[in-house]
Amino acid sequence: MKIQLLPSSFDESGRATPAQRLTCFVIDNQVTVDAGSIGLALSDAQRRAVRDIIVTHPHMDHIASLPIFVDDLFGELTEPIRIHATEEVVNLLERDVFNDNVYPRFAELRNQHGPVMEYRPFKVGQEFSVGHLRATAVDVNHIVPTVGLVVTDGTSTVAFSSDTAATDEFWTLINKTLKLNALFIEASFPNSMHELAKASKHLTPQTMAEELRKLSHNGIDILAVHLKPAYRVTLVEEIEALGIKGLKVMEAGRVYEW
Ligand SMILES: [Zn+2]
Ligand SMILES: [Zn+2]
Repeated sequence: MKIQLLPSSFDESGRATPAQRLTCFVIDNQVTVDAGSIGLALSDAQRRAVRDIIVTHPHMDHIASLPIFVDDLFGELTEPIRIHATEEVVNLLERDVFNDNVYPRFAELRNQHGPVMEYRPFKVGQEFSVGHLRATAVDVNHIVPTVGLVVTDGTSTVAFSSDTAATDEFWTLINKTLKLNALFIEASFPNSMHELAKASKHLTPQTMAEELRKLSHNGIDILAVHLKPAYRVTLVEEIEALGIKGLKVMEAGRVYEW
C-alpha cells in the first residue's frame, strides 16, 4: 500500500514545502482519506484515478478544496466521485458546503455520463468497501463528529487517528486488528499549549505519547501529522525528544510504502 500526504504549502517558486495546512492522504493513487488539498496538489494522473474519498469530519482543513476537485472533473467524469462518510458528516457537508450557496449540490447534478458525485454513508464499527480497500471507522474525540479509521488492502493495514484528543475506542479497534503496518496520529499543538489543545480537542506531543501507551502493536511505523505550521519547529523537536521507537514526523509529498 502506497500512502502520500499531499503537500499544502508552497514556496515563492511554487515548490512544495513541509508545512501541513490541509489534510489529504492519497492511498495507491486512487483513494483519499480527507480532501483538504485534493483540488490543489494531486498530480494529473492521480486526478484522473481518484474517485473514492473518505471524509473523517467536516472541518475546513479536511475538505477545503473538495468542491474544487469535483468542479474540475465535472465534464469528464464517467463515474461519480464517491464521498464516504458517516450519515452525520454527509448531512453537515450538504448543509454547510454543497448547499447551492457555498458551492453547488453536486450530488444532484449530472454530466452527459450520469451523476458526478454520490454519498456512500458508512456506520462506525462496520467494515465497508472503498475502491480496492476495506475500511472500518470508529468515533474519536474531537469537537465535531469525527472518525478514526483502519484501512486494509488485504495485505497491509494502516490506521488514521484523524483529529482527536484522548480516546479509548480508537485504540481498542486497532489493537484487535491482527496486523498493523503503520499508524498516522495527530500532534497539533506544542506541549506549552496544552490548554488550547484540550479545548480544541487535539493532541500535543506529550498527550500523543500518553495515547501511544495504549497501542499494543510493536515495531510499526508511527507517523505524526497535523502539526500546526506556526509551531512546526517546536513540534518537531518535541516529537523527536520523545524517543519513541518507529515514531517520525510524516513528510508531505513523500510516498511511503507498506
Ligand atoms: Zn478537526
Ligand atoms: Zn484538522
